[in-house]
Amino acid sequence: MNRILQFFQGRYGMDQLNLALLLCGFVVQGLNRLFFSPWVEALGLVFLLLAALRFLSRKKERRATENELFLSVWRPFLSWLRELRERWRDRKLYRYFHCPECSQTVRVPKRKGKIRISCPRCGNAFVKKT
Ligand SMILES: [Zn+2]
Repeated sequence: MNRILQFFQGRYGMDQLNLALLLCGFVVQGLNRLFFSPWVEALGLVFLLLAALRFLSRKKERRATENELFLSVWRPFLSWLRELRERWRDRKLYRYFHCPECSQTVRVPKRKGKIRISCPRCGNAFVKKT
């Protein structure tokens, strides 16, 4: 038991990028049940291997920097997905427009006829049919 603990001491461990790599690895491996391709199999293994190597790495700072880079791409993507889901959920109640001046997204209630919309960011007003 001590040896196992010693082995994991000073290792980088788990982070969000590793979790994503593991998920990608398992999903690709699962997809391979449809394709039966050695290339797809290899791709899945590459994801899993990368996750294992990062988990066991002793270069913690480098791994943390990689994770930050990953999160800087992942977080905006996630918020875009959330916005998409919200729009779909509210599609019968609201319409979305972009401000012609600053391209801020503006949500307005549907079926109000032609209305004047004031942009909450730049104050620009424009008329749209809801
Ligand atoms: Zn605006």
